[in-house]
Amino acid sequence: MKTLRDQCLLGARLSGEILLDCHAHIGRGADYVIPDGDPEALASEMNRLNIRGAFVFQFTGIQTGETTIGNDIVADACRRVPGRFMGMTMVNPVFERDVLPELERCFGLGFVGIKLITHYQGYPEDGPLFERILGFAHERGLPVLNHAWGPKLESWLKTFPKVQFICGHWDPGRAELVRAYENLWVCTCLPIAHESFERGMASLRPDRVMWGSDMSDLQFGCGLGPILLARVSDAIKRRVIGLNMLELLETCGIAVPDGW
Ligand SMILES: [Zn+2]
Repeated sequence: MKTLRDQCLLGARLSGEILLDCHAHIGRGADYVIPDGDPEALASEMNRLNIRGAFVFQFTGIQTGETTIGNDIVADACRRVPGRFMGMTMVNPVFERDVLPELERCFGLGFVGIKLITHYQGYPEDGPLFERILGFAHERGLPVLNHAWGPKLESWLKTFPKVQFICGHWDPGRAELVRAYENLWVCTCLPIAHESFERGMASLRPDRVMWGSDMSDLQFGCGLGPILLARVSDAIKRRVIGLNMLELLETCGIAVPDGW
């Protein structure tokens, strides 16, 4: 059987593998054009590459701070392409009173987790609303992906053990915390340089790293290629491209997309 590296170099569809993406976006952004960003186009590209499913969230609330419209776009995408997208609701803690009602509304619509990007929204990374959001997630055992976790991450890992915390971008600097807590995961997202992935995997727990594409900002292959080509064992690559996320979904009781 060919190695994952060889299959990547041949441009082969990874038919026998489980691919799950922990970081993808749906909708339009104000800053640049997003070609082929419709849910159907995205799902068709996932089908072509044998990607079973993806956590998806909006662009809108990142740039404008208005999250309701973007959450509705994600809910619509999940309805239009059932069993492929797992919606994560975005909230903006700057609009304090809207946060919990919007979380309640979105979980009524079938969202499975929370995406935060307070860094872009101008909210402090240790602000008090975090505890309310994490409390909501803890009660329901949800994954929460933040663009960048702030200085209180370790105390939150202890206070909210039922929350699965995901570092939204590649951050090998979290290796020590990831070893110390079962509920902390690191996304590979960024167009990671191949040596950066190899260096990071020397210190990170291989069972807590998950591939994230940042589609439709980036194409799926941008982040997937450097993982498949890295000088890392195929067993670890398989964990990173899908098996670890499968474990996360099972931990959170989220239905696993079943592929085509
Ligand atoms: Zn992103």
